[in-house]
Amino acid sequence: MDKLTTLANAARFDVCGGGCGGNTREVSPLNFIHQAALPNGGTVPLFKVLLTNICVNDCAYCVNQIGRDIARCSFQSEELARVFMEMHAKRMVKGLFLSSGIGCDASRTMESMIKTVEILRYRHRFNGYIHMKILPGARFDCVEAGCKLASRVSVNIEAPTAGHLAVLSRKKDLRDGILERMRWVKQIKSEYETLVPSGQTTQFVVGAAGESDRDILNTSQNLYKEMGLKRVYFSAFHPIAGSRLEGVNPAPPMREHRLYEVDWLHRVYGFSPGEVALALGKNGNLPLTRDPKLVIAQRQPWLFPVDINKASYEELLRVPGIGPVSAKRIIETRRETSISSVQQLKKIRVVTGHAVPFIWFRGMLAYEKQLSFLPQLDKEADEEEIEAAAGVGNGTYQDIV
Ligand code: SF4
Repeated sequence: MDKLTTLANAARFDVCGGGCGGNTREVSPLNFIHQAALPNGGTVPLFKVLLTNICVNDCAYCVNQIGRDIARCSFQSEELARVFMEMHAKRMVKGLFLSSGIGCDASRTMESMIKTVEILRYRHRFNGYIHMKILPGARFDCVEAGCKLASRVSVNIEAPTAGHLAVLSRKKDLRDGILERMRWVKQIKSEYETLVPSGQTTQFVVGAAGESDRDILNTSQNLYKEMGLKRVYFSAFHPIAGSRLEGVNPAPPMREHRLYEVDWLHRVYGFSPGEVALALGKNGNLPLTRDPKLVIAQRQPWLFPVDINKASYEELLRVPGIGPVSAKRIIETRRETSISSVQQLKKIRVVTGHAVPFIWFRGMLAYEKQLSFLPQLDKEADEEEIEAAAGVGNGTYQDIV
């Protein structure tokens, strides 16, 4: 139980759930069961654990970095598979999220992870969800074996550029250690279409290396395009006592939340990278105090107001307060009758408080038509910049580097 608690605690910082905010919720006083969010709004209990918290790397954002005075331990593959199957038999968990520190060598550690999953798949006939980490620097055959066994795999990128990664870790290599493994996963998936059905994902540590949201979004959008990623996760930085980045301020959770919001606009609503970039302030960061979709709409006044009775699905999606569900309901409703009141929109769950300044329909009241948001824009943008310049969300990394 000590080992389980240690290795589950050490896995806490890896994000394995979907949904805005991305974080998993701990539901058990024993913190190894996490409710991962599903795209349909449901949740699934996952056993989230490390094979070992022994690590040769020095990632300054990580509790397991080499040299920290913490209890270190490892599971044997047989042992971990048995623990999982016992919890599964008791219906405590439905899936596994397996990560690991890099014991002495990435490939040897991955071999043990693979053996654990082989026991589950072949001996115990477990055919449920398994998310397996691909360790940076692992050999091709380990990556291939992981892809043949797991439902989802991920290689954490951590930072948007090699320069930013160098602030976080003196050992990790962005191009050869991380991006190369992502490319291998893409190649293996293209050769065997049925492998890794839940796709490949990655994760950024946000706010530790002085990177801007523009840096993170540029890289994440390239990864979606070049590597065919299913999801990108963001994890707000928390300084670790005794690490090189101990003095850097924690990133505000709202920064993580805003990144999830614009990721959603890009991935689900189909906003182009150029449109998403409209939400960025002059400092390259997303506003912490304003909804990025609202900012994007305010910066494209020529698109509005849209005629709610004629606008296409894509045009409706660009209206603040209208998402895919309400856009579809608007289109269904107007097939039968024209929309002529705000009440009709409320009935189909449009957030009219946000939407009304951006839409138009015959009979709309004069006060509802005002585009009152426009004059506020520059003043609010300036306030965001002052806030950012004061250090909110940026930490004090300049002191460190
Ligand atoms: S490789 Fe880095 S992030 Fe992963 S366990 Fe080791 S120190 Fe932590």
